Amino acid sequence: MKGKLKYLALAFLSLVLLVSCNSNDKKQTKKAAVQVEKKEPIVKEFGLIFNDFIVHKDTIKSGDTFGTMMQNYILPDSINVHQLTEKVRDSFNLRGIKIGKPYLLFFDKKQKDHLKAFVYVKDQINYTLIDLRDTIAVYNKQKPTSIRKRTIAAEIEGSLSATLDREGVSASLAPRLAGVYAYSIDFFKIQKGDRFAVTLYEKFIEDTIYAGIERVESTYFRHRGNDYFAFPYKLKSEQKEYSYYDELGKGLKSMFLKAPLDYYRISSAFSGKRFHPVQKRWKAHNGTDYAAPHGTPIKATATGVVEKAGYTSGNGNYVKIRHNGTYSTQYLHMSKILVKRGQHVAQGQIIGKVGSTGLATGPHVCYRFWKNGIQVDPRRQKLPNTEPMGNADKEKYLEYIKPYKRELDSILAVKFKNNDSNIN
Ligand SMILES: [Zn+2]
Repeated sequence: MKGKLKYLALAFLSLVLLVSCNSNDKKQTKKAAVQVEKKEPIVKEFGLIFNDFIVHKDTIKSGDTFGTMMQNYILPDSINVHQLTEKVRDSFNLRGIKIGKPYLLFFDKKQKDHLKAFVYVKDQINYTLIDLRDTIAVYNKQKPTSIRKRTIAAEIEGSLSATLDREGVSASLAPRLAGVYAYSIDFFKIQKGDRFAVTLYEKFIEDTIYAGIERVESTYFRHRGNDYFAFPYKLKSEQKEYSYYDELGKGLKSMFLKAPLDYYRISSAFSGKRFHPVQKRWKAHNGTDYAAPHGTPIKATATGVVEKAGYTSGNGNYVKIRHNGTYSTQYLHMSKILVKRGQHVAQGQIIGKVGSTGLATGPHVCYRFWKNGIQVDPRRQKLPNTEPMGNADKEKYLEYIKPYKRELDSILAVKFKNNDSNIN
């Protein structure tokens, strides 16, 4: 710590020397002055002007406490470390100091080791400033943030996250979009030619540092020639969360999730005949295999009651859920079952974890789907959506989304000159 300080002081000193040497040469005086101004832009952060101090940056190391960090420096009014600790402890959670977090020490420019301020950086936004300049004062502050609107329209090339990356959008938009369209688009089957448009709000710290997506306003996705608009809307103001509806007021949510996993790869589709990898013979595969890492959470694709939860040599650990008089689903080869027979489960609830118990070559879920007692391919079913809006609600909704829809349409028109989607 002290070594670095010395280095900083030395660097500063040599800069001063350089300036004063140059100023001896009258012809160069003006030039040098300009150069120095350029080299020392005003740096302001945490409400402090860095140029007024010698600033030392470091991170909390194992064993560091506020006391040990302070003990090497000269504190104002000759108070000692113990007195300082007592003064700040009410406002500054000393036990909350975490290894790896950055902190900054601000020293007097002229009096070496005279500490003037200490800043502990909790996260991108929150920090604690201990100001020692006049009276000792502790401030728990937040850096000013701003929200900016952004619109994006792009065509899929490669994966969704690769496309977002190319557009310079946070990768966190991918799971958000996957969430919005969890019922309508299989994101692992998106392909070249698919396109999307999004209006969203991004957060910035002090107008410059990107701090992620604040919220997504409206989205459009074209997948395999179908258009999917999605607008978040609360049908009743007391509703806690938004639901997503399309441009006609139809809910995007359907009775079943597209898949029991968030991230997966279909390793074996539903088919009348396939070569069984363990039994080494041709037989029907009445399920869809989703390969995913061991331990990946498995979700109930719809609300229902657990009908079976147990083990057989073929299925391994498995769960069967009865959703209503028509539909049941089953999830095989789990490493862990997290529900019990007779238990009610909500759509999306985690019922187990991916494994390779039973007849399985690697970790995957075999997802089976029954309609009226017959195993069918859920990916070929037209599955029921949530209840439609009433006429009065729909009228209100359509009026509400007008500006959002218009904006998406114009982004698409600009990006894809003649967007041939069936946008009215
Ligand atoms: Zn299977």
